[in-house]
Amino acid sequence: MTINLEAHLASYASRSTQSLGRRFSEEAPATRSEFQRDRDRIIHSAAFRRLEYKTQVFVNHEGDLFRTRLTHSIEVAQIARSLARNLQLNEDLVEAISLAHDLGHTPFGHAGQDALNACMKDYDGFEHNLQSLRVVDTLEQRYGAFDGLNLMFETREGVLKHCSLAHAKDLGAIGQRFIDRKQPSLEAQLTNLADEIAYNNHDIDDGLRSGLITTEQLEEVALYARYSAEVKKQFPHIGGRRAINETVRRMINALVVDLIDTSKENIATAAVSTIDDVRNAAPLIAFSESMKLEAQELKRFLRANLYHHYLVNRMTSKARRIVTDLFGIFMSEPQLLPNDYQLASDDKNAQARKVADYIAGMTDRYAMREYRKLFAVDEI
Ligand code: MG
Repeated sequence: MTINLEAHLASYASRSTQSLGRRFSEEAPATRSEFQRDRDRIIHSAAFRRLEYKTQVFVNHEGDLFRTRLTHSIEVAQIARSLARNLQLNEDLVEAISLAHDLGHTPFGHAGQDALNACMKDYDGFEHNLQSLRVVDTLEQRYGAFDGLNLMFETREGVLKHCSLAHAKDLGAIGQRFIDRKQPSLEAQLTNLADEIAYNNHDIDDGLRSGLITTEQLEEVALYARYSAEVKKQFPHIGGRRAINETVRRMINALVVDLIDTSKENIATAAVSTIDDVRNAAPLIAFSESMKLEAQELKRFLRANLYHHYLVNRMTSKARRIVTDLFGIFMSEPQLLPNDYQLASDDKNAQARKVADYIAGMTDRYAMREYRKLFAVDEI
């Protein structure tokens, strides 16, 4: 007996039955929806386990309570599921996209990614969204019949959040929307904004925890100030972490409620009734204009005061050096690479891609260990 797990969804939601399917056809799962199967495959992948040791903003060993790529991805999934349920969109699909969206990230967060981009400049570049797709499409090796996880089209589409036009042209159906300037599913649009809600808020929390930013500074940010005032009024005697948590949870809630209300309005105004309508419409999942401005103000604050704090800059600088030096030594001496990453031919482009795959797959501490092994004279 098959139960229809998607019967409650809106007509414009993504459905397994209307999916563009998997690259390699497989029998339908007996006990779960197709998108639940995708989520489960992602959770069992090696790349997913590595997220635990990859930096979001703070390097993993700097403290036990900071977000990692793993806890970030779980928070994104939580917010995305909440949003999807309220909008009658496919919760299983947003969960799968959320858990996979950062699988292609390098060690050391954005610093590592920027460094690898620069290293790959002459070798067709490195884009982390494209790398996430590469992980689920080819790099994971778990199944007998195919490389990768063989995920549904809609999951892959959500994972490939952005892509340069040059790369889109090589990707077939999954890249076509960037060429045609069409939208992805509402689930993909939603997960993208759930990501933003998650990191803006957890970066406040981690920033305060680290002591790099203060609540006094944050009072300049309208969104924070509004809810911190509400908390002070409701709980005049609490302070410290408890007050911060009460403030941040109100901010997340405000963003979530605003996004649901605005998106519902947009969907009604655009009068979409199928997923094809969605693909041809303007982006429909959005914040209101005023909330968008407040979220931008918060982002600017975090950029100026946290992401560019001198102590974070030191980590960024070190990360750049580690990634750049590893890339350099592996390109000039590919015989130092593990066998799987060495090529029989001397095709420089193909070798660079192998090196990029190797480095992107490293956790922070693995990259540091490799660096020490290769460059420190007293290490073996
Ligand atoms: Mg993310």
